Formats: sequence, C-alpha cells, structure tokens
Amino acid sequence: MKNFNENSSLITKIKQIRKKFIEKRAKGSNLKLEKPVSYWIKEDRLLNSRGKEFTIILRTKGCSWALGGSGGCSMCGYIGDSNIDPVDSEQIIHQFDYAMERKENEIKSSKDDFVLKIFNSGSFFDDDEISENVRTHIYDKIKTYDKIKEIVVESRVEYLRNNKLEAMQKALKDKYVEIAIGLESVDDHIRNNYVNKGLLYHDFLEAVELCKKYNLGVRVYLLFKPPFLNEQAAIDDCINSVNTLINLQVNTISINPINIQKGSYIEYLWYQNRYRPPWFYSLIKALRKILLSRKEGINTRIISDPSGAGTKRGIHNCLKRECNENMLLLLRKFVLTQNGDELSKDVPQCECKLEYKLKKLFI
Ligand code: SF4
Ligand SMILES: [Zn+2]
Repeated sequence: MKNFNENSSLITKIKQIRKKFIEKRAKGSNLKLEKPVSYWIKEDRLLNSRGKEFTIILRTKGCSWALGGSGGCSMCGYIGDSNIDPVDSEQIIHQFDYAMERKENEIKSSKDDFVLKIFNSGSFFDDDEISENVRTHIYDKIKTYDKIKEIVVESRVEYLRNNKLEAMQKALKDKYVEIAIGLESVDDHIRNNYVNKGLLYHDFLEAVELCKKYNLGVRVYLLFKPPFLNEQAAIDDCINSVNTLINLQVNTISINPINIQKGSYIEYLWYQNRYRPPWFYSLIKALRKILLSRKEGINTRIISDPSGAGTKRGIHNCLKRECNENMLLLLRKFVLTQNGDELSKDVPQCECKLEYKLKKLFI
C-alpha cells in the first residue's frame, strides 16, 4: 500500500479507535443483512430541475480503506453500518429489491423525476463489497423504472476500471449516471495528512478522465472543515477546491460539512475539545464568495445537504433552533434553485454572529 500520509501517529490513532469501535459493536444479524441499512425519498435537485431523490443504503462488508492497514478516513464512522464479514451477493440483492419494491408505487405514480442514489458506505465498484452479478442485477432493475432519470453511486478511485464503467454505461445508456468520488479537498496535504484519504489529486484527475471516456458524470464530495483547520482556513480551502473543480468542469460538487460520526478520529478530537464542527456562517460565506466569482455559462451543480445540521455534532451556529433553521432554509433554497441570490437574502441576525467573528481564526 502506498503511504500518502506523513503523519504516522495519526494513522496509528485512527486504527486504534477503529479497532476498539469494531470490537465493541455487535455484528449484523442475519435479519439485518436481508434489509438495507436505510432507504428514503425526499425533495432534491436534479440536473436541470427540481425533483426527488430515492436513496438506498446497502449493508456490505464495509469500506476496504477503513478495514485495511490505513484505518480509513479521519472523519468517517461508516464502518459502524457495515458487517465487517463478507455479505452474500443474494443478501445484497435482497436488500436492494426490498427497498425498490416498497417504493415502487410511489415512484411510478409520482409526477416528479427521480435520482436514485445507491450508497454502500464504501465503494460500489469494490468487488469485495458488491460483486459483478449484484451490479448487473441492480442495472437490470433500474432499467424498468422510467421515472428514474439519474443514478449516483460512490467509489474510491482505485476501483474505477474500464470494464466496470463500460458495463454500467452500456446497461444504463438511457439514464444520466454520476460517479461520486470523495476528494474532500483539492489540496494533497489537507486530504492526506488531515483526512487520511490515501488519494493523490493526480490519481483523481485520471479517474475523472476515465469517467468522461464512458460519458459518465462526476460528482465530487468536498469535506467542509477537515480536522486541524480553523473556520477561516475551512472557508479558504472550500473556495479553492470548488473553483478548481468548476474549472475542471465536473458535473456536481457536493459540499459536506463535518458531522461528528461515532467511532471516528474526529469524534476523539471533538471529545477533547480539539475540534468544533463548522459554523453555518462559514459555509454560507464560502458559497457567497464562490458564486460571486462564478462565470456565466458554468453548469456545475453545487449542492450541500448537511447531516446533523443544527445539532452539536453537525454544522451549527449557536444551538438556538431558529438560528440554524434560518441558515438551513437559505442553503436548501439555494441548492434547489441553484440561484445565488437566495444566499444573499437577509436572515434575522442572531447574537452569536459576534462570537463567531471573534473566534473564527481560533476554532
Ligand atoms: S470516507 Fe469513504 S473512503 Fe474514507 S473510510 Fe469512509 S467510506 Fe472509506
Ligand atoms: Zn445564533
């Protein structure tokens, strides 16, 4: 395994935390393996219009990066949803069919178009998690749903191979497919030394080219406020990353503010008061700056759907409900309309703004 992270003590700590967490939690029972971790439908922004998302989270063995010698990414606790031991292909097929069958009527009778997001807390193209016959089954099923216009799957770049992308593109040629890649930041140092992503920007660029070769869209995940960055540094990193990716003409940028996940290294820092999840003010500020300098004719969609927003583990200002709800409303309106004016609208000022201004270089 290539060593991307110069900070070996961070890797040791991540592995230690991960090991303890895995030992503590109960392994998935057979019953759990027959059903997905979760599935839901809600409003979402499609490529060119408003629509709905249908998300299915499949339970697999888990992310090979997290289970391997690296310990995985510093903000990630997805291993908590995984089975650790291999999961049979039939069981994963059953999980997928279970969710599809339960939502079939709602999708087929809806006036909206859908984006289907198939997540597995790891990599869709990692054969140790999802085998080729499971992927083929999934493609065949999706084809029968006219209302599903877009599909998103996630993968680390090392599993993106010509044959796998070609098979997906051929099977779903009537749909718009996006491959989501967790880049987290365009900065190699931040990505590898603070996030422990094990990914070079150079390899990401090759993956983007490969997706383009097969006419597949690229969605990039950016992490908002990785560990060891203060609020101002997080704003700067986000602006730099988004502008670079817009120039690269990726299709979608998804900005994910840190949400303190159980069993992650970031949770360890948070418990020690060495990390505070980002303030909403910072995210809105970064987005405003990005949109101000956005040139005409740029089609990259910018989205953000923060988990745990308004709670102490998620992005929040002070913990007053209305303070966070106002911010979330701004953000949601912007994402659904992709209109930057939504972010310039005045929201009632909260007294925590002053505290934020004083602290943003130190927390
Ligand atoms: S963020 Fe993705 S690549 Fe990193 S450990 Fe979690 S699932 Fe694996
Ligand atoms: Zn407030």
